[in-house]
Amino acid sequence: MTVARRIDGKAKAAELAVSITSDASTLLVEHGIRPGLAVVIVGEDPASQVYVRNKKRTAESCGFHSVQRTLADDASQTDVLQLIEDLNGDAAIHGILVQLPLPEHLDEQAITQAIEPSKDVDGFHFVNIGKLTAGRTSDAFVPCTPAACMLMIEDEIGSDLSGKNAVVIGRSNIVGKPMASLLIKANATVTITHSRTKDLPQVVAGADIVVAAVGRPNMVKADWIKEGAIVIDVGINRVEKTVDGETKMGLTGDVDYDAVCAVAGAITPVPGGVGPMTIIMLMANTLRSARFSAGLEG
Ligand code: NAD
Repeated sequence: MTVARRIDGKAKAAELAVSITSDASTLLVEHGIRPGLAVVIVGEDPASQVYVRNKKRTAESCGFHSVQRTLADDASQTDVLQLIEDLNGDAAIHGILVQLPLPEHLDEQAITQAIEPSKDVDGFHFVNIGKLTAGRTSDAFVPCTPAACMLMIEDEIGSDLSGKNAVVIGRSNIVGKPMASLLIKANATVTITHSRTKDLPQVVAGADIVVAAVGRPNMVKADWIKEGAIVIDVGINRVEKTVDGETKMGLTGDVDYDAVCAVAGAITPVPGGVGPMTIIMLMANTLRSARFSAGLEG
């Protein structure tokens, strides 16, 4: 029986934060540019507020210029688009992120597509999606969660995935599809699966790399997993957990972690895996955008 290596996303994110902070400081000293990140939030959704606070805190700890723009729940489409236009034109801002989901009366796609592609540090603009799909990542912003997953996979088995089978569970635009593009670029043989896939366990059983991005607690079972596979759990599910006889709300992933640990070669925990790495990739994208603006990349 193998016991999977625990891929420590929190520790890896802390390491990356040190180098991002140092690079941001060099950019400021040598070029007078402080990376600037603007986070836009519409409404009072408590989960979104936590995410936004974390992003702001991380940006500040990396030495970035960090602004949060909060609009009321009933802000109009015009209000949001005007704010994006202002941020597009603000030279102190290198990255703009609109916290999703937006209130239902707003057109999410029109809003994400209004962000200048060169400031689209979430990688949701069609220009950036197109570049990633075409395999041209040299001047594209890659969505933060798949970028984080890819870094963790590379750390485990290197950047050339020739001959490896990868199965992505979930086909969303923000995780599943860009994840598949990154894996293809790294030469993996990729299968994207989703809610309409037949015999999912059988498809997953052929995978050397499994990325689960579904949003269903503990769905991926140990008997789906090939011995020694790398398992990346993107899912964040709020569930009741009993610790020392006390029942509390806690987070769990899409993978049945304890059981899968006995089969997989390496696995990311939830929490402490993909989540902290995702935030740090947002900082990496913002730093990269600031470096682009100084003509230092691309
Ligand atoms: P989504 O709801 O947009 O997509 C879910 C996907 O899962 C869909 O493509 C759907 O077809 C597929 N699916 C649903 N039921 C399935 C089933 N029974 N079998 C196979 N596939 C099934 O979700 P998303 O935005 O991609 O997020 C997925 C999960 O990842 C969520 O739990 C979300 O909270 C989490 N997430 C985490 C991070 C992070 O930073 N760690 C970032 C983004 C999303």
